[in-house]
Amino acid sequence: MINGVGVGGSWGWAVWGWVLGDDRDVADVSGLLRVGSGVDLGAIDPAGTPGLPDRKGVRRDPKGWARAELVTLGQELARQQEMLFANAKVNPADQRRVLLVLQAMDCGGKDGTVKKVAGTMNPEGLRITAFGPPTAEERQHDFLWRIRRALPLPGYLGIFNRSHYEDVLVVRVRRLAPPRVWKPRYEKINSFERELVDSGFSLVKMMLHISYEEQRRRLLERLRDPTKYWKYNPDDVDNRAYWPAYQQAYQDVIQRCGTDHAPWHVVPADRKWYRDWAVAHLILDALKRLDLSYPPADFDPRVETKRLEREETGSTAKVNGR
Ligand code: AMP
Ligand code: MG
Repeated sequence: MINGVGVGGSWGWAVWGWVLGDDRDVADVSGLLRVGSGVDLGAIDPAGTPGLPDRKGVRRDPKGWARAELVTLGQELARQQEMLFANAKVNPADQRRVLLVLQAMDCGGKDGTVKKVAGTMNPEGLRITAFGPPTAEERQHDFLWRIRRALPLPGYLGIFNRSHYEDVLVVRVRRLAPPRVWKPRYEKINSFERELVDSGFSLVKMMLHISYEEQRRRLLERLRDPTKYWKYNPDDVDNRAYWPAYQQAYQDVIQRCGTDHAPWHVVPADRKWYRDWAVAHLILDALKRLDLSYPPADFDPRVETKRLEREETGSTAKVNGR
């Protein structure tokens, strides 16, 4: 039996979907990872795998399965991203674009996520920006100044590796500014993001959530491998002393800036294969919500084909001067 006919009903389709290896039984990953004002970060397991299908084939080798899925998800991401780019190119009135905001503790896997997930897409349509401590010039402006300058143009997928949220995270925890400076920023961020969404942005905000112990393992890994020394920063070890304060600051960010128009997601990130798979789903969901299609031709493809077919025989030789 080829298509499950005879098995009948939805069970038949479930079997067929499983045989095909498609992801029809994959839960709504974005929905599962979305968090809001009631979030309790301490209750979210950094080694969890929400949404991972509970099937024998997946349970046997979840990592192998997720890595293989990422290839398929990557192809769909690339297709969606191309449609986003194409629409903006043919229609300057189309202001749609997607902005991924990646936040995490040190060693949380932001760089690895950019490499793995963004690596599946066309670099021409990507705008990736990493934010470090503000430069002297940036410090002369409002904290959103450098953020605005890095926003993706219509048709682009922007990725922020750290973001305006550092201005209520590191700035608060390491006391780089007094509370009267950072406290009003939550509201400023909410209205800024409202403005972005109203002008065509889809925001995908996510915290890659790792455990204290996993951070230690990753720091040690960097010290064991001379090709990873460049990623090691002795400051990161000092920062570990502020772990609880950072967790509290993250929780406040999510509670105060997890809005309907720009919700936060917490991605369990101790397992890199789960992290990449989940992040790919989050971006794909945002793109799919745009209901994109390839723009139609503003010419008649049949007429254009005929013009080329009608070319005199021998015209190629003429052009080549023969
Ligand atoms: P990395 O992401 O490992 O390259 O590190 C970048 C560093 O820049 C981190 O230590 C951040 O805390 C720091 N950083 C990013 N944004 C800000 C900011 N607005 N103010 C102060 N430090 C920042
Ligand atoms: Mg670092």
